[in-house]
Amino acid sequence: MKIKMISVDKTTYIKALEARVKKCKRCSLAFTRNNPVIGEGNLNARLMFIGEAPGEQEDLQGRPFVGKSGQLLTRIIQAMGLSREEVYIANILKCRPPGNRDPYPQEIENCLPYLFFQMELIRPEILVLLGRIAGIALFGTQFSITRMHGQLLYFRGIKVIPSFHPAYLLLNPRAKKLAWEDMKNVLKQLNLPIPDKQ
Ligand code: SF4
Repeated sequence: MKIKMISVDKTTYIKALEARVKKCKRCSLAFTRNNPVIGEGNLNARLMFIGEAPGEQEDLQGRPFVGKSGQLLTRIIQAMGLSREEVYIANILKCRPPGNRDPYPQEIENCLPYLFFQMELIRPEILVLLGRIAGIALFGTQFSITRMHGQLLYFRGIKVIPSFHPAYLLLNPRAKKLAWEDMKNVLKQLNLPIPDKQ
């Protein structure tokens, strides 16, 4: 018996998600955002970064991690021997909280299904959670970034390594060393070479 293979066009699914998020009014952030920020990168990525929420620049441009924090994330990705085009980058929330305040739990709950859809579609080998809010969103309030960064965790069968948010690293440059150790662990899990220099 022949088994008919159904080819899954990930681009079609992600475009459908984009259309849905653009119309989403599940929370009040829909009325203050300029643009939703769905995510970008390789839909077959082995590695997916998940941040907290769009900031000012991201909201204006509709792209994730394009402000100062984003520039640092880009440098971290490059230091790992990778490029932004090889990975996928998204956030817990698709819309910017006014003034960059922390997302409210209800906003996270409303928005997470979109991220879960992306995770299922891309099925990366590793998720890197950037910062406390992303960690709490997936693992609950017992999550602590200072205690759990660099550790190998699992979420829905996908390996997860939490690390510091680039915005935190900009304010606390000493933590960059710790973040680099986390990224080395990510590379080890992916069986990729670890570059000598940070
Ligand atoms: S933050 Fe998420 S749930 Fe709220 S309006 Fe934006 S897309 Fe919808």
